Amino acid sequence: MNQISGECGYCKRPETYRCVADITRTISQSHSSVGNFLACHYYYYLTKIIGVEIRPAHLSTPLKAGKLWDCIKQFHLGMKEIHDRDVTFKTPWDVVKHYEIDPRTVAKVRALFKAYKELEITVEPGYELQAEINLNYTIILPPSSFIPSISISSKLGHEAINLWQARSDQADDKRLWEFPLKVSGFYDRKYSNYFTEDKLGGKPEYYLDPFYIDSQCSTYFLADPGLDYCIMEVVQFPQQKDLKKKEESPEELFERVYQDVLSRPSKYFIGWDNKKRMYGQKFFRGEFNLKAAEERFRQVTIEIQAARWTNMFYKNFRVCGNMFNHPCEMRTICKNGNISEEMYRIRGK
Ligand code: SF4
Repeated sequence: MNQISGECGYCKRPETYRCVADITRTISQSHSSVGNFLACHYYYYLTKIIGVEIRPAHLSTPLKAGKLWDCIKQFHLGMKEIHDRDVTFKTPWDVVKHYEIDPRTVAKVRALFKAYKELEITVEPGYELQAEINLNYTIILPPSSFIPSISISSKLGHEAINLWQARSDQADDKRLWEFPLKVSGFYDRKYSNYFTEDKLGGKPEYYLDPFYIDSQCSTYFLADPGLDYCIMEVVQFPQQKDLKKKEESPEELFERVYQDVLSRPSKYFIGWDNKKRMYGQKFFRGEFNLKAAEERFRQVTIEIQAARWTNMFYKNFRVCGNMFNHPCEMRTICKNGNISEEMYRIRGK
């Protein structure tokens, strides 16, 4: 990291993730970090600036199941090891251990994968796993767009009278603010003219509607003009409930789910094609609003920069109970006003 004139040195402290006082370096974005900022500025501040993350064991069960499924599939398709923040997984069991996934959830995901193999599900060859997204923009705007460049009198009345005049003075300011924006991410599987994304969820319809997947897909299409379409490989997370009449062991649950998946693969592997032994739903580039996504990246970057200048990452209490289909995992922090070390940790640099 280069020293920037005027920096306070806080950013050099190893126990901090990002310097809270630094308002000079732009922060790289991803489609999800932009979504987080739009949902709640304070969530973005906690995760992207302070670097708070929930300890793996405290993640919600659906998120853990999704991570396990993603890793199982990536290993199956040829990934030798998977890097997740500061850990490296060499087998799916490393994932189970790291996230402390409960035996019943593991049984359901294992059953899905055993059925995946039994059904001889295959994918098109010629892919690159975890291909990097590297989208770069330059944001250019006059200083008056978000930072008052006119020094204003300390007398409030005087200030109000002069605002109109100040506005036209600012319009004459020919200087430009120019800063880079990097958007990063990874394709699950990338081919020469399309990409595929793996999803596991209790409500698969969420991933099958261009309205809900627009942000992610638009970003991925923007990053490579050669991509014509994408395939969402969505899997229904087994919804089997606990038996009422007898206690069922994880192995028995595994068998019950496995038999169910085998007997009706199209319910679990959305878009199942019996002949091709493949599943997934295709979406074309034209189904997404790429221009709006690019404009959103540009505008949100300016808004994030403005929030950093004013140090005003306000809370949005309206989404605490439903942050992208699940309760916000930062609620304990916002409720208690402190960061429990048992539940959270600060990301390494
Ligand atoms: S709990 Fe609510 S206010 Fe706090 S970070 Fe989450 S969404 Fe924002």
